[in-house]
Amino acid sequence: MGKKNMRKKNKSILAKKQAKSIAAESIRNLFSEARKSFEISPQLSDRNVNSARRIAMKAGIRIPSVYRRQFCRYCYAYLLPGKNCRVRTNKKTISYFCTRCRRYNRISYKGGREKIRERQTKSKII
Ligand SMILES: [Zn+2]
Repeated sequence: MGKKNMRKKNKSILAKKQAKSIAAESIRNLFSEARKSFEISPQLSDRNVNSARRIAMKAGIRIPSVYRRQFCRYCYAYLLPGKNCRVRTNKKTISYFCTRCRRYNRISYKGGREKIRERQTKSKII
């Protein structure tokens, strides 16, 4: 009965913060890469989106809202308005229609809804 738990998980808060800001930086880079490579190869852009998602997940951060509307939340395709997605605005929502999986990604804005507020406070961490 004298088992000692010697697992060491002493990642300091500073190191965690650093990892998060590095992750945020990589996400930014990946999305700008995705934008650049779209003309050459949309598949490459999709791969960048996937890497960005994986980095965010690993670091425990959310993808900034600016970038979240740049990919399809169903098939994770990089979306470029006028190329592979159609943008429609409504009273309170912006709809991004993904031409690959034929689904709508709706983003609400100016709604003052609690969900938006919640999202904003969460994304402030980044
Ligand atoms: Zn899609």
